[in-house]
Amino acid sequence: MRRVLGFFAMAVIAAFAAVWLATLKGHLELEIGNWQIHMPAGLFVAVTTLFALLVIVLGRILGLVLGAPQALGQWWQLRRLRRGEGALSQGLVAAATGELKDVQHWRNRISPTLSASPLGLLLAAQAASLAADTQAEAAAYEAMLNHAHTEYLGLKGLFHSALTRGESERALELGLRAYALKPRATWPVQALFDLRTARGEWNEAMALLDDAGKTRLLAADVLRRRRAVLLAVQALEAEAAAPKRALDLALEALDIEPGLLPGAILAARWLIYNSKDRRAQEVIERAWSVAPHPELATTYGAMFPRETTPQRSARLLTLARVRPEHFESCVLEAQQHIAMSRWSEARRVLAPWAHDEISTRICILFAEIEERQHQDHVAAHDWLLRAAQAPRDGDFRCSRCGWSSPHWQALCGRCKGFDTLLWIAPTHPAPQEQMPTKTDAGTLASPSATALPVPDDPGPDDPGPDDPGPDDPGPDDPGPDSTV
Ligand SMILES: [Zn+2]
Repeated sequence: MRRVLGFFAMAVIAAFAAVWLATLKGHLELEIGNWQIHMPAGLFVAVTTLFALLVIVLGRILGLVLGAPQALGQWWQLRRLRRGEGALSQGLVAAATGELKDVQHWRNRISPTLSASPLGLLLAAQAASLAADTQAEAAAYEAMLNHAHTEYLGLKGLFHSALTRGESERALELGLRAYALKPRATWPVQALFDLRTARGEWNEAMALLDDAGKTRLLAADVLRRRRAVLLAVQALEAEAAAPKRALDLALEALDIEPGLLPGAILAARWLIYNSKDRRAQEVIERAWSVAPHPELATTYGAMFPRETTPQRSARLLTLARVRPEHFESCVLEAQQHIAMSRWSEARRVLAPWAHDEISTRICILFAEIEERQHQDHVAAHDWLLRAAQAPRDGDFRCSRCGWSSPHWQALCGRCKGFDTLLWIAPTHPAPQEQMPTKTDAGTLASPSATALPVPDDPGPDDPGPDDPGPDDPGPDDPGPDSTV
């Protein structure tokens, strides 16, 4: 519409101009040598105007002709650039989906200039990674260090390459450089913390946590837990040379994480050594309330060497009642009943845990009951067989790689993960409707097929604390059911 209006306006102006020129009075006389020109003024103005327009048009045409090679070159270059960018995009998409052949196909369509660009280097690194070409990958990451936009990415890639090759010093150097480049980024802090702890550089790791706390790079609970574990491991290392400092570090760790096993054991040990038995008991009871563990019970039980078995069992039962629903508390309670030859009580405590995922330790306790109460070697043997087939528990297991250890340690022995070892124990007893129930036959059987039948205690308990030996089954005692 605008064009039509414009054309119409131009036509009107031209018509007015033609009328004006036709009615313009006067004429032009020009004499050049023998040449004489007589011309009306209107015609002269028209010819002059047309001549000027002709000069302008010819000038434009001449400019286009002379600039054509350069324009053609620019057009060709732009076309190649667009095609290269398209190939680069396709290549990056293929790399993200892990299609190596497609990546290589699109890489071959990229110009050398584009290949040297940050995105081109990223594609080269990803292609090398997919092809497991470590040298090419390292070369791409090295080239990235020359670009401000990709330096951080290059450092990260080289850091992981160095770790893969086991070059800890080189990785540390690269990690520190990345941290200096982006101190508020999460990755350098996390990577450096993992590396520092894997190298046993606890003070440097703690300094990183302090920085991360100031910049809020890590969640508060993560910071708290890591700080406590670092304090505990420092306490363990200081124990031989500086027990007082070790105790202070352990107590500081416990202030942060009361359930931290190594801190509680170390603190209790040195509190007992310093005759602060009540304080040691409080430390263990508090740790047990958070995270029960057999080692806590062992330390707790050994506090008073001169006490009698009933006295020790009574104290340990008190500890078990701090967290009565926990598996370790049930095991501890059952152990005390067994020590006191209270077989029915021991069976009652263990029964809820005798389900289809029965743990090794529960089986072993049942075997001990059968052996000591009735000298039933066959039943005891069957329980031990079941123990061998049961899921292993009572170990620390790495949540990252599955490596297990009977003892706590800050670092996984295989993957060097920091604080990745978790205590493996059953978490839930059998649901109430699946718990073994007493039948007329005198056995503990479950209405559900998922719960294991548990042999009942057919004989009377031996209440005598001084005679922890097996009960003497009466003549009416049907004996244990061989339900295993
Ligand atoms: Zn591991």
